[in-house]
Amino acid sequence: MADLIDKLRAGVRDVPDFPKKGIVFKDITPILSDHALLRASIDLFLERCREKKIDKIVGIDARGFLFGSAVAYELGVGFVPIRKRGKLPYKTEVTKYSLEYGEAEMEMHVDAVKPSERIVLVDDLLATGGTSAAAATLIAKAGGKLLEAQFLIELEFLHGREKLGQTPVISFLKY
Ligand code: AMP
Repeated sequence: MADLIDKLRAGVRDVPDFPKKGIVFKDITPILSDHALLRASIDLFLERCREKKIDKIVGIDARGFLFGSAVAYELGVGFVPIRKRGKLPYKTEVTKYSLEYGEAEMEMHVDAVKPSERIVLVDDLLATGGTSAAAATLIAKAGGKLLEAQFLIELEFLHGREKLGQTPVISFLKY
């Protein structure tokens, strides 16, 4: 397991000053392009989900879709995208939030999560927690029960998990 985590860690490329000066962007495309690392990263999420009774995986725009839809496929449950404002075609619920590099709005289709559905939230990276807190708000507004928020990477020094309050948070690569 430690070996696997080291290999995944080696697949995260630091890109300084992207998309803004002072931000070190954690680029996961080297993981995505390596078949063994791609599978290993999806398996980490899957292992966390197997013991839970889950109705839907909710993934966050855009890299949360990559892991989230693969996990949903393997578990045999539905997948719901939460997207940056203006990308979803049907009626949406919208939430405003601030992130490590700017401000944004996220939205989810009004009928995507049904009351009482058991949800796991998936994204590539937890930074300040603004994005996932906004996603959690959207899930709660729809009446969903958020069981856990899962991230491949957590920037622990930003304390993002505090923004998720009582929601259990799991991450696999910590910085
Ligand atoms: P935050 O709302 O600050 O937790 O930011 C999380 C979202 O922004 C995730 O969807 C990440 O993909 C993206 N993000 C924030 N900071 C970084 C970073 N340093 N490297 C890569 N992605 C990031």
